[in-house]
Amino acid sequence: MPHCNHHTHCLAQALDHAETLCRSHGARLTPLRRRVFELVCASHSAVKAYDLIDRLSTEDHLVKPPTVYRALDFLLEHGLIHRVDSLNAFVGCTSVHNPSDVRLLICTACGEVSELIDPTLDVSMTLAIRTSGFQASHTHLEIHGLCAHCQHTTTQENATP
Ligand SMILES: [Zn+2]
Ligand SMILES: [Zn+2]
Repeated sequence: MPHCNHHTHCLAQALDHAETLCRSHGARLTPLRRRVFELVCASHSAVKAYDLIDRLSTEDHLVKPPTVYRALDFLLEHGLIHRVDSLNAFVGCTSVHNPSDVRLLICTACGEVSELIDPTLDVSMTLAIRTSGFQASHTHLEIHGLCAHCQHTTTQENATP
């Protein structure tokens, strides 16, 4: 999700989106699934599964990892979160798009993960792979660099003597 100044508002919107999407898929956003989604969306950077397990567990109630992984699988399946392979973590998704049409842009300074959605991105790569005779099962392309916000901050820092 992009940088925003009204995070509570954008979190509420994300939850609305999740409810609507699940309803349209005939799926149930159980309290745990909802809570996991909320925790993933609470930050604009990628969240690791063990952090979620940590945050969901209280002193007298330990949440079992398989329970969290099942909730994550549900959210992945319904396109509510994306797996960030290079970070072994997850990010929330509040747009509706084909899973293969998205590339993740990962800021190495602030950790923000944003989406680059373009259905034409894959066309020449798919063609090149097919020409080489290789049969691809899935492609992951994650781009690491600096987000617009951090580029600006770095430039400012460099400008001060
Ligand atoms: Zn997405
Ligand atoms: Zn950044």
